[in-house]
Amino acid sequence: MSFPVYLDYNATTPVLSETMEVVLPLFTRDFGNASSNTHRYGFKAADLVKKSREQLASILNCEPNELYFNSGSTEGINTALKGLFWTHAAKGKHFISVKTEHKAVLDCLDFLETQGAEISWLEVGKDGRIQLDELQKLIRPDTIAVCVMLANNETGVIQDIESISALVHQAGSKLVCDATQAVGKIPVDIKQLGVDVLAFSGHKCYAMKGIGGLFVRRKNPRVSLPPLLHGGGHENGLRSGTLNVPGIVSLATSLQLVYSGLTNEIERQKKLQQILEDGLQRLGCLTVASQSPRLPNTTMALLPGIKAEKLITQLPGFAFSTGSACTSAIPKPSHVLVAMGYMEQADSAIRISLGRMTQQADIEAFLNALGLVL
Ligand code: PLP
Repeated sequence: MSFPVYLDYNATTPVLSETMEVVLPLFTRDFGNASSNTHRYGFKAADLVKKSREQLASILNCEPNELYFNSGSTEGINTALKGLFWTHAAKGKHFISVKTEHKAVLDCLDFLETQGAEISWLEVGKDGRIQLDELQKLIRPDTIAVCVMLANNETGVIQDIESISALVHQAGSKLVCDATQAVGKIPVDIKQLGVDVLAFSGHKCYAMKGIGGLFVRRKNPRVSLPPLLHGGGHENGLRSGTLNVPGIVSLATSLQLVYSGLTNEIERQKKLQQILEDGLQRLGCLTVASQSPRLPNTTMALLPGIKAEKLITQLPGFAFSTGSACTSAIPKPSHVLVAMGYMEQADSAIRISLGRMTQQADIEAFLNALGLVL
């Protein structure tokens, strides 16, 4: 057991040691620029990028030329939402999204509102799931896009993206999906999901920080997005900037490893999750959205009669969070819990997120320590 015990895999993950072995020579020996087309350093880098793109396309079930590398999901989401707004003025200015989305979506849409976009927000209940009939009521001929995440970073709740995309397409709109917390944790089959744009991020799935991928559908219908960054015309003009070759290789290598053993890992994590949630229940904690389809690694628990901020200081041997790491600098109750109707309890919520390195002993130690302070 390492110290403090890491139970915050939704915030970020370590890079797999197998991936590090593959990636390390790319910082020293094979450090070429993938755009250098006059020597072997460049050829090698370009070849690694091509192979990584093919590998990722095969894992996620899309075409290699539908995958664009970038810095992570915040960038991917901004590219998608701003791009659709800029290029679809003739269709309209209306977006639909959900109150429980990540700040990357909420803040981007808030910004677009200042630029003239109109946003309709879907509510969720205590199960954290959106209602298809509510979406049906909100969607209009001028709805440029609907933006729904696959799995929530705080509660782990999984949305029925397949049905949502069918409805969105029937209405002639497009579906942007933030799959940041799903890729690497559950199977993600882009064709089956039917999404038009999908964002994911390396540091959430045992690859490096600062690398991400954006799927942009090429046909039936083709989605064309303008670049956020103008420059050398990399990534087919969508994302200029020298390619992060070690990051790209880390993404493909880690996802290959993670997906090759995913079925067993999901079963293992489900068992650990059950042990954790049974233990939490015995201690008087309530698991949020316990009956909803959820990630096998994520538990949001409401503590009985103690503030989460206080608990964090009482359990220094454990690394966990009180909400999403990206917002924990802001001392505000989790917008996800507030949207789910847990306004009163939001400041007593903790998020435990397990990962490939989590062992049963870690969970037991956490429950014992929690039992002593509750
Ligand atoms: N979307 C979700 C659901 C997330 O959990 C995060 C990160 O916490 C992001 C988007 C932003 O991802 P990135 O850190 O790659 O910009």
